Amino acid sequence: MEKVLQLVRRGEGENIEFKEFLTSYHLREGRFRQLACQMNHRIIMGKGKAIYVIGVSDSGQIRGIDESKFEETVEILKKLAEEVEAELSSVERYSINDGLVGIVEIRKTNAKEHILVGTAGHVDHGKSTLVGCLITGKPDDGDGATRIYLDVLKHEIERGLSAEINFAVFGYKNGKTIRLKNPVSKSEKALVVENADKLVSFVDTVGHEPWLRTTIRGLLGQKIDYGLLVVAANDGVMRTTREHLGILLAMELPVIVAITKADMVSEDRLEGVIREVFSTLRRVGRIPFLMKSPEDAGKVSELMAENRLVVPVVVTSAITLEGYDILEEIFFHLPKRYVSEEDFLMYIDKIYRVTGVGTVVSGSVKSGELREGEELYIGPFEDGEFRKVRVQSIEMHHYRIDRAKSGDIIGVALKGVRYDELRRGMVLSKNELNAVWEFDADVYVFTHPTLISAGYEPVMHVETISETVTFVEIDGDYLKSGDRGKVRMRFKYRPHYVYEGQKFIFREGRSKGMGEITKIFV
Ligand code: GDP
Ligand code: MG
Repeated sequence: MEKVLQLVRRGEGENIEFKEFLTSYHLREGRFRQLACQMNHRIIMGKGKAIYVIGVSDSGQIRGIDESKFEETVEILKKLAEEVEAELSSVERYSINDGLVGIVEIRKTNAKEHILVGTAGHVDHGKSTLVGCLITGKPDDGDGATRIYLDVLKHEIERGLSAEINFAVFGYKNGKTIRLKNPVSKSEKALVVENADKLVSFVDTVGHEPWLRTTIRGLLGQKIDYGLLVVAANDGVMRTTREHLGILLAMELPVIVAITKADMVSEDRLEGVIREVFSTLRRVGRIPFLMKSPEDAGKVSELMAENRLVVPVVVTSAITLEGYDILEEIFFHLPKRYVSEEDFLMYIDKIYRVTGVGTVVSGSVKSGELREGEELYIGPFEDGEFRKVRVQSIEMHHYRIDRAKSGDIIGVALKGVRYDELRRGMVLSKNELNAVWEFDADVYVFTHPTLISAGYEPVMHVETISETVTFVEIDGDYLKSGDRGKVRMRFKYRPHYVYEGQKFIFREGRSKGMGEITKIFV
């Protein structure tokens, strides 16, 4: 009983929640989701463990409830826990007056939470180094360890050797980080994936100039939860930095800014860069927070998950590892953003023929869940048709899994389709979908040397699709640099699966812009 009183004195907050009782009323859809979200939040705040005190009102008054109400409350907590991939690890009950109060402990089951972070920023500002140091926990001490990793990485990406090599990964187990000693070791990666209860993957976008070619696939081809924008303290905010920030914002991603190379500049210069970053963020309507200690990370991450206008700014150095404890804490607290209830959908990124296995496609799961053995649709083929295929096996970071969910980056071995019939940009889907030739979009032109009129044919990038589109009709007839407008568009060579609300980028020569699909015609 002393334990109950202690909890009551502490009050609700962090990972503690008071509930007088729950009834079947709380199982109604909207209410249930709300309670499930709340539980998930409490579990995250408690690094995997939440405590519910029952028989106690929101304001902390000990009420006591009867036996049947107590049992019903516990049952409903079980259902809620199941919903958020957790379980009741203990239920303690105490008698008070003629009623019961209880302490229920809820823990995350082994299900992994996996967040995907996209890095962006000017070339040489330290993206790869930052990711390398984060996933190994070791400083970039100039002995070349990180650099060797980077070289291997760059090399492999350029040669297109592996779909997954550019996904650097680290994990947490019971709130502690687990890391790779050798970042390119596939078996070590598999171990981290196996043992972690939370995984963080980084898509290093390898931002060479021209940035569009290399970054688009990184940014639009995968389902990214958060953007990590890197700004080197010596150079400060560059044009590319602003452009990349613009893209991250257009993708509606919450953003974290890491100021790197703090060891290379004076205190004064550092303050100047922080001011510059702050004004850059404020100019696009964001609210920057300078992170001074890991203790702030929980709160700011919570704010950020709720409101993506909040942007934590962390000062770092890969030499001294200053700021890395803060980054770790931020990533630990940031929840998966896309808890999608929808049916399985994945845009195909890469296609392989694997000896002894057959056709393998890779990509990141956009929504829903996938299980081994399931029957899916794949398409659209050039004629707009979708075909049935069967999932033979699923791999994540070289580790065989029997179930994949939204946000996972996976390779899927398929039965029923030939390797050479597939193309990047096709989808794997639970449902038979409609291929789209024509759609309306709201577009925004970044740069274009002349007027854009009907007949303009840029390449459009959406998800993993890169395809020539024709501007069939422009509202107001013309568009120029800086203009926004409505456009009817049509894929020039073949249909694709796209839907309303999707964001895209288009480019042609030196001109570029972005847009959102507002209406599709099927
Ligand atoms: P990227 O092009 O943005 O991926 O940049 P890299 O990670 O390749 O880094 C470019 C250079 O900056 C490399 O030589 C790194 O060793 C160096 N670098 C990166 N971070 C830091 C840092 O925090 N301090 C110092 N002194 N050098 C850094
Ligand atoms: Mg790099």
